[in-house]
Amino acid sequence: MRPGAARVKRRRGRAARRGLAQAGRRPDVARTWETDLRAARGYGGALRRRRGSGERAFMQARQEGLAALLRLQQADMDIARVRRELAGLPQRRVIVEAREKRRAIEQKREKVAALKEDAERKLAGVGEEDALLAGKQRAAQEAIDAAKGDYRSVEARTKEMNGFAKRRATLEAELDRLGAELARIGEVEAQVASALVAVQRQEDEATAAFQEQGGALKNDEARGMAERARIAETLPADLLEAYEKTAARTGGVAVALLQGNACGACRATIEGGRLIDLKASAPLGVCPACKRLLVIV
Ligand SMILES: [Zn+2]
Repeated sequence: MRPGAARVKRRRGRAARRGLAQAGRRPDVARTWETDLRAARGYGGALRRRRGSGERAFMQARQEGLAALLRLQQADMDIARVRRELAGLPQRRVIVEAREKRRAIEQKREKVAALKEDAERKLAGVGEEDALLAGKQRAAQEAIDAAKGDYRSVEARTKEMNGFAKRRATLEAELDRLGAELARIGEVEAQVASALVAVQRQEDEATAAFQEQGGALKNDEARGMAERARIAETLPADLLEAYEKTAARTGGVAVALLQGNACGACRATIEGGRLIDLKASAPLGVCPACKRLLVIV
């Protein structure tokens, strides 16, 4: 193509797009788009009168706009799919479960530590009392030795000695019991510690896998967003706005094709006057049933 011709073509394309971008003032989305088309057609007519090829430029801009609209929708669906995959990664559930398990084990560890402290405190108390009694026993024995046969004194001390011995026997049983309890607590403590290590390893492994797979998906998401922004830039502002509003409302597919006399998204059949109205708004209308944008080809 000659450089001059390319310049003219570019200018015509721009002019037609400007016509499209000058949004109608009516609030209805389809009407707005339709109004733009009419404006563009009018502009095309003026061009044709002056240059004879405006209609072609308009047709091209219109086709480009619709193609970009469908590409935008595809990009959004790709992004949504990646986000669903990201949300559905199995590691996420494993991580959440491992964290809950870890918290439960940590609570158990605290309980066991409290039990251990209690048993150790009791053990120390019993040990102190026993040491005290041992001292008293020694003193009584020394007193008996010093009494040198003083019957009353020996008898009294001997009674004392029996009392100490009896109490010490009780304390010894208590020491045994506490010793066994501490041994049991020690076993539970070891189990809790190894369970903590295992659950932590599970969480770490799932986190690493999540970061790897999730990272790749996050990259896909970023690429998708960049692609979407590139496509959105090429759309006329009002068409983009109509798309965004419809997409927000429908939460997914915003644009469908009219297939025969049915909406390609909600499958509702469109009949009579409504179909005639819809076809009159070609190439883009609104489904009377689901209010999605309908491309009429
Ligand atoms: Zn529909």
